[in-house]
Amino acid sequence: MASEETTLRSLFIDELRDVHHAERQLLKALPKLAKAATSPQLRAAIENHLGETEEQVSRLEQVFELLEESGKPKPCAGMQGIVEEGSDLIEEEDKGAALDAGIIASAQRAEHYEMAVYGSLIAWAEALGEDEVVKLLQETLDEEKAADEKLTTLAEAGINEAAKSGAEDKGAEADEEDDEDESGPTARPAVRSGSTGTGASRGGRAAMSASGRNGSGKGRSGSR
Ligand code: FE
Ligand code: ZN
Ligand code: FE
Repeated sequence: MASEETTLRSLFIDELRDVHHAERQLLKALPKLAKAATSPQLRAAIENHLGETEEQVSRLEQVFELLEESGKPKPCAGMQGIVEEGSDLIEEEDKGAALDAGIIASAQRAEHYEMAVYGSLIAWAEALGEDEVVKLLQETLDEEKAADEKLTTLAEAGINEAAKSGAEDKGAEADEEDDEDESGPTARPAVRSGSTGTGASRGGRAAMSASGRNGSGKGRSGSR
């Protein structure tokens, strides 16, 4: 029995060090995505999440302190691949709405990867009875989900439509209004599946953080 607990705990610590590295990679990658974005709303959303990512790194440092473990980052190959694909995209494509659509897809891949990791980490922290750690990780998971939803909103509010015609500027007008669309609501946005994933995982976890910052974390990003 005791040895099983030791195993889950060491797996947990390992995965925490892995996501620590993943978050640190994003601290470098997000500014590049923001700079390559044409839509001011998209740039602002990415920059906002960069600020949250800084908080997430310090939250992880708190977690390592609570667990009395070294937080030395362990290379995260998964995020490395996602970040690399994003850099390739930026190098290959000219600025404009189509690149913006690609940047959204790339950023959502990173968010979904993080959501999967934090979902597992929270379940393990619960199993290990680390309630303080659960709270901290849940705050981060809520931020990742809100960031993902914000990206879906931007894609659906005009960036995908603008990308169809290769418009350079249309992304700048992307907001809640979509009645200025001339081409009609025929095509479904490519990132639809992203929002489905978000909805599914929100249902799974939100109930666990009754006292957490579920609402405020979401509102902060969502209101931008
Ligand atoms: Fe993150
Ligand atoms: Zn990883
Ligand atoms: Fe994130």
